Amino acid sequence: MEQIKPSNGLAPVTGDMSKEEFRRFGHELIDWISDYFDHIEELPVLAQIQPGDLKAHLPSAPPVKGEPMDQIIADVNSLVVPALTHWSHPSFFAYFATSTSAPGIFGELLSAAFDNKAMLWRTSPASTELEEVTLDWLRQMMGLDAGLSGIIYDTASVSSLHAIAAAREGVEMRIREEGMSGRPDLPLLRVYISEQSHSSIEKGIITLGLGQRSIRKIATDSKFSMDAGELSRAVAEDKRDGMIPFCVVATVGTTSTSSIDPVPAIVKICEEHSLWLHVDAAYAGSAAVVPELRYILDGCERADSLVVNPHKWLFTPFDLSVLYCRHLDLLRRAFSLVPEYLRTPEQEQVRSGSDYGVQLGRRFRALKLWMVIRYFGHEGLAARIREHCRLAKLFAGWIERSSDWELLAPVPLALVCFRACGKNAQDSAVGNKRLDVLNEAIMHGVNATGKALLSHTRLHDKLTLRLSVGNIRTTEKQVRQVWNLLNEQLIRLQ
Ligand code: PLP
Repeated sequence: MEQIKPSNGLAPVTGDMSKEEFRRFGHELIDWISDYFDHIEELPVLAQIQPGDLKAHLPSAPPVKGEPMDQIIADVNSLVVPALTHWSHPSFFAYFATSTSAPGIFGELLSAAFDNKAMLWRTSPASTELEEVTLDWLRQMMGLDAGLSGIIYDTASVSSLHAIAAAREGVEMRIREEGMSGRPDLPLLRVYISEQSHSSIEKGIITLGLGQRSIRKIATDSKFSMDAGELSRAVAEDKRDGMIPFCVVATVGTTSTSSIDPVPAIVKICEEHSLWLHVDAAYAGSAAVVPELRYILDGCERADSLVVNPHKWLFTPFDLSVLYCRHLDLLRRAFSLVPEYLRTPEQEQVRSGSDYGVQLGRRFRALKLWMVIRYFGHEGLAARIREHCRLAKLFAGWIERSSDWELLAPVPLALVCFRACGKNAQDSAVGNKRLDVLNEAIMHGVNATGKALLSHTRLHDKLTLRLSVGNIRTTEKQVRQVWNLLNEQLIRLQ
């Protein structure tokens, strides 16, 4: 069939873009991305627009005829880029600073080209088998037990939901078949989390129909780690009261402070009471690839499941979350449902992703992680994470040596929790309120410059600033710059 000629970036009458134009725009876009990274520091980290600004510039109805690719790319520049908060900016220190990397971008590009829906082994043998191998590499790099098998989901929220669903399947109360409502034979099922657990755990529990009533929040100590003694007492009490404790969620690297729960003590309690231990290591798990930081996962070799997010601190573009699970049989029992049209001759010999979750079709996410691990190698990944921890400790040292600032939590990894304590700070409710207002103003002041982005939390009822180092482009230069910006704001506001 005759090829339709390229025409100013307009789509042909039928079929996809011509190969000539695909090459032209493909090269242009790769150049564009390279320039974006080169000049990213000239852009404000936080989008400097008001709600509704972008929508006001977009037509409310779709185009009837196709538009030229040149124009679409021009609109990315003029409309989309100003509405971006630049997570790839090296002065992005908010939330958990995370970033993509070149091999990860290439992985995404190829995955979009292959467009595999990896629901069954045969619909994407490459995705299925690369996932198994790559996740086993990651398991080895993190020093996890060989009994843990990995499976990829989009986010930690979804990984944890699946872990708790598998734990519930292990309760043997026929919940898959009978459900939970209207059952006088079903006592309250209990899940233990800490006061510092991520909100995704509670959301997962709500989604699974267990209800917030099933959650018991365990207090944390002065370092924001779960109090194992209180956990033990709570489980015994709930059992006495006729409830069914079935799952504990410990966190290695909490969101507010990166605190680490005492997993070795928690795992003992879980073993004593036959409770499923799920470890949320979404953020910090990646740090275990650094040999001298492996200790953060001590005890996790006996966990039933663990989630780690390569899209957080392993330079893999969003999204890619890994659930390691010791009991894939339970996960499969909870989620497998194979209609005739999905039956295949090889199904007993292979793993099919759709058996292990809510989703049928699955993206080919393993490809980008495989490329990231191969390109940087274990040593390269460890070196980058080690450097982030060094930079965070450098910043924490400046805080400690200044009488204007104070640390509000230990710094085990690359997150610093701090606040301006003001020269005349009083340790009273009034003084605290004043400091809350001051620190919030400092944070908004820094963020409004567009030169850096910080976020906050609340610790011991104090508004706390958070500086997270995790971007592949961040160096000492940006850390020094944000320290100067903070001090400028403090002088301005005091
Ligand atoms: N768990 C922890 C400890 C987190 O810090 C976060 C997000 O920051 C999550 C879970 C949720 O991650 P996701 O966005 O992948 O669902």
